[in-house]
Amino acid sequence: MDSVTLQMRGQPSLLPSVRKHWLGKPLLYGIGTLLVMPLRTLQGVGRVFGAGRFLCNMTGVSSSLQIELVPCLRDNYAYILHDVDTGTVGVVDPSEAMPIIDALEKRNQNLTYILNTHHHYDHTGGNLELKAKYGAKVIGSEKDKDRIPGIDIVLKEGDTWMFAGHQVFVLETPGHTSGHVCYYFAGSGAIFTGDTLFSLSCGKLFEGTPQQMYTSLQKIVALPDETKVYCGHEYTLVPSTIGREKQCNPFLRTCNPEIKRTLSIPDHFGEDRVLEIIRRAKDNF
Ligand SMILES: [Zn+2]
Repeated sequence: MDSVTLQMRGQPSLLPSVRKHWLGKPLLYGIGTLLVMPLRTLQGVGRVFGAGRFLCNMTGVSSSLQIELVPCLRDNYAYILHDVDTGTVGVVDPSEAMPIIDALEKRNQNLTYILNTHHHYDHTGGNLELKAKYGAKVIGSEKDKDRIPGIDIVLKEGDTWMFAGHQVFVLETPGHTSGHVCYYFAGSGAIFTGDTLFSLSCGKLFEGTPQQMYTSLQKIVALPDETKVYCGHEYTLVPSTIGREKQCNPFLRTCNPEIKRTLSIPDHFGEDRVLEIIRRAKDNF
């Protein structure tokens, strides 16, 4: 099969979350509008969810990896990975077990791997139950080896790990937490960014500095523009891409004069300080 398939369970809860993201945060909404705000996307959401189920076939990508989005908790997104050739199945950031078990049972699938981007409970809460039920191996950052429940395989920056023949590159992306990693499936052109890069946003700085987050984001956006971005929260209708985020995400446009003017940031401020100010502005909404 020569495509990556994204399937999203037809739950209308995504729409309010998208609305909240855009309409509840006037400053960033304003910035977004300024920077080519994709309002059409919001109209599209209603239509798609009217149809009940969303299916998007990405063409031009040579891969047998299927990626299914599974909404969890209030606004978390786990992803089930399915290698069609071997039947191998993994899940990224299962915050709870039940929605994952439901999805696997519907397709009569087993679970081999659990990948965690970081240690927070809303990304690892389902680890132990899933591990006990399926015997799945838990993969995470070496830095989080004492904080990720059930961890079996520890990885670090520059490591390559194989998921059923798919090369997975590990990017250490501290900022949200000190041990945060992103998983880049190069052959499928997909990256799982957890709570580092969101569509049009970035994660809160709980354990890292603005400089660390800035460096982490720059590392991610150095990937090819067409790379699809699968994030842990604040998901939009379809996976965003690195190219789109570079155009629209204020946290990746820290040298943009319009953003600096809007937030009254002096011209001489470094990009990490600009990021810090945008982050603080968003935190205060
Ligand atoms: Zn987190």
